[in-house]
Amino acid sequence: MDLPTDLSRRRALGLGALGAFSVSATGSVLLRGDAPPADPRISSALPVLSPRPAHAVKKRPKPKPKPVPARRAPAFKIHDVRPDAPPRSIALTIDDGPSREWTPKVLALLERHDVQATFCVIGQEVRRFPELLREIVAAGHQVANHTMHHPVSLARLPARRIEAEIRDAHRYIQDVGGTTPKLFRAPGGNWSPAVMKTAAKHGMLPIDWDIDPRDWARPGATRITRSLLRGKAGDILLCHDGGGDRSQTLNSLRKVIPRLKDRGLEFIAL
Ligand SMILES: [Zn+2]
Repeated sequence: MDLPTDLSRRRALGLGALGAFSVSATGSVLLRGDAPPADPRISSALPVLSPRPAHAVKKRPKPKPKPVPARRAPAFKIHDVRPDAPPRSIALTIDDGPSREWTPKVLALLERHDVQATFCVIGQEVRRFPELLREIVAAGHQVANHTMHHPVSLARLPARRIEAEIRDAHRYIQDVGGTTPKLFRAPGGNWSPAVMKTAAKHGMLPIDWDIDPRDWARPGATRITRSLLRGKAGDILLCHDGGGDRSQTLNSLRKVIPRLKDRGLEFIAL
């Protein structure tokens, strides 16, 4: 589950603070300074004012989504996602960031323990903190699409809104992080056939979780720890670095990561 209130508030405060992006007429997200992609519908009608020699125009082709078969249910075990994972694997997923305050702390903790995790990022937060997504990618963690605006009612939205939520986040993650997400997590685990079909159209596997310590509700680090320690081989753990004060999550992970490793479990990115 996720807590929409804090996110909405932060969004209300943060929206418009960054003008580093724009959306082109074709709907693709552009970094400031990037040349807009050629649009075959209009480019031939425009006069070419200063043609460059062919060798200077090095086009970076946008990766096209490679659809995968739609699933009827999300994957919630590591070996559903990565059949090749070692048998004693456990996966930590960290949702709702990037967060300026908490993502760097989580990254430092993971690095200290040599742990790879999966960050389910929100497109709108990537737009606010692009450098943090690049840090996540550079540290070798996996990145999953967690929609553009985190609507907890995603499954009930009309098909075109579901498409926009998934597509726009996909483009931000690709443009900013240089990585194409292969995994999608619905906000609050609100799945529907339409959500899974849209994720599949964009080449993504829907992922859920096994252990939800409800850290977003701040039940206290002790309770979060107790819940996470129920994790066993093959499980996917859910935690958050976005959506509000995550000090309890961080304090809990400081204890949980070494204890799970002591049990011979190996943290892997999905
Ligand atoms: Zn979420």
